[in-house]
Amino acid sequence: MSEAAPGRTNLLGLTRPGLEAFIGELGSKPFRARQLMNWIYKRGVGSFADMTDIAKTLRARLGQLAEVRPPEIVSVQHSADGTRKWLLKADASQAFEMVFIPEPDRGTLCISSQVGCALDCSFCATAQQGFNRNLSTAEIVGQVWLAARELERPAPGEGEAAPATPERQITNVVFMGMGEPLANFRNVVPALHILLDDFGFDLSRRRVTLSTSGLVPQIYKLAEHSNVALAVSLHAPDDALRNELVPINRKHPIAELLSACWHYLDEQNGRSVTFEYVMLEGVNDSPAQARELARLLKGHPAKVNLIPFNPFPGTRYRRSAPAVIQRFRDELLQRGVLATIRRTRGDDIDAACGQLAGRVIDRTTVRLGNKVIGVAVQP
Ligand code: SAH
Repeated sequence: MSEAAPGRTNLLGLTRPGLEAFIGELGSKPFRARQLMNWIYKRGVGSFADMTDIAKTLRARLGQLAEVRPPEIVSVQHSADGTRKWLLKADASQAFEMVFIPEPDRGTLCISSQVGCALDCSFCATAQQGFNRNLSTAEIVGQVWLAARELERPAPGEGEAAPATPERQITNVVFMGMGEPLANFRNVVPALHILLDDFGFDLSRRRVTLSTSGLVPQIYKLAEHSNVALAVSLHAPDDALRNELVPINRKHPIAELLSACWHYLDEQNGRSVTFEYVMLEGVNDSPAQARELARLLKGHPAKVNLIPFNPFPGTRYRRSAPAVIQRFRDELLQRGVLATIRRTRGDDIDAACGQLAGRVIDRTTVRLGNKVIGVAVQP
């Protein structure tokens, strides 16, 4: 794939009203935008020349002024369990990752919203590289567009022309890759609109999940702009421990965070918030901590997803033993709090939660990237 042509508008970054305005400026009727979206998102076509029911003159104008350009693939890895991970190019020296996780009843694409992350959670590999930059709307939407095309191709050993079985289709999208999506609000919200648009990817709002470490003001703002499913990285039942694991808690403590979550559900008529809780041996995994967590969430529309910690080089944490995780879950269930244990996938290719490090191409930038420059929250 080629570099961005200077001055060309990448249509993957435009919501339907944005595309209508763009087409309008070219002197065409707004309904052409829907036709274009149909080609781009329903049929996966990126070349204007192939969009045969669009007038030749408009196709020629689009060819001069616009493009459909997904991120460039640096490398791809296939896990023994079917999980695939792509390293994608952000700049000459920076990369980010996306992961596809096939299951019998769904196919989940885990996408990134930033290159690196500024939140500095102590158990997360992405945090170690610091924050580099926000991804654009086109780079966020482009991940889904690219993955849909890539999944049409057989994995090694699958033989030619493998059929598009359900487990090769993207049915769910989760913002659980690199970055804090709510710290890139300006680019993430239009991407959510394109994912949900009937003429875009047409995903149901319950099949798109935004996961946040808890940027409270942005949760209130999100409630005004979107209604996707919300997941929150809680990881501790008390402020002292959460301050240590998820440092943004010092600014927005647990009580404030939970109020924002319940507000989000009220506004969006949502079913429940998923609370992610990484199981760290001897740190946050005791039965007493499970009971404390149950007290926080009991009676609220909440689900807890226990994530066995995925280790990475240099970490001081260890994964809780399976029996400890099950006991923790049972303590929650006994108190009427829904809880599940996340099955770890793709760990043989470092594609599991929190392992996305987006190893960069130019090593000098890794060191620069290690400097944490604070939370970049956009207006
Ligand atoms: N910034 C967003 C999305 C990040 S990653 C957020 O914080 O929610 C998605 C999930 O993976 C988060 O719950 C995150 O806390 C968790 N995670 C990070 N590192 C992990 C690790 N090493 N093992 C298991 N889960 C991890």
